[in-house]
Amino acid sequence: MTSSTAIYPGSFDPPTWGHVDLIRRAVRIFDTVTVAVTTNYEKRSLFTVKERVEMLQAITSDLPGARVASFHGLTVDFAQECNARAIVRGLRAISDFEFEHSMAVTNQKLNEDVDTVCLMPSEAYLFLSSRVVKEVASFGGDVSPFVPPLVAERLREKFGEHKGS
Ligand code: ADP
Repeated sequence: MTSSTAIYPGSFDPPTWGHVDLIRRAVRIFDTVTVAVTTNYEKRSLFTVKERVEMLQAITSDLPGARVASFHGLTVDFAQECNARAIVRGLRAISDFEFEHSMAVTNQKLNEDVDTVCLMPSEAYLFLSSRVVKEVASFGGDVSPFVPPLVAERLREKFGEHKGS
């Protein structure tokens, strides 16, 4: 039997419980899932790529099928580099669909051998995004329901906010 490999690309700025939920689902389907942090928009990010990779490594350390890497350039090229036939993406609400659909069709045009697999998170994470987490953290709000403890700690350090702990 050949082993199946997928990549799960994204910004992960920062990783949330929604991302973790998706990674857990993906490793049940694929033998190996490489969580791939894009370096394409590094300048606009709160966390450096290195910080995001380290957080993802720590919070997925209990998942034997999960790997973490970073990449620059086209997602389909990185998928090929990993010998992955699938790109995993998350669909929260219908509003994600249009964007994910156009990305999937574009990637299909770029490389016919790589398909996009969309997974739905648990209902608890349907309204969770990195953007909202950053906004809450920037005003000193409690982000513990949204992100793993390590990420909450890193957010407090970033915003110089220690009073909530
Ligand atoms: P990007 O900037 O590439 O959209 P994100 O880190 O925001 O990167 O998201 C990476 C992928 O994870 C996307 O497919 C996104 O829809 C999905 N995702 C983000 N948050 C959640 C969540 N709460 N539940 C399920 N999927 C999610």
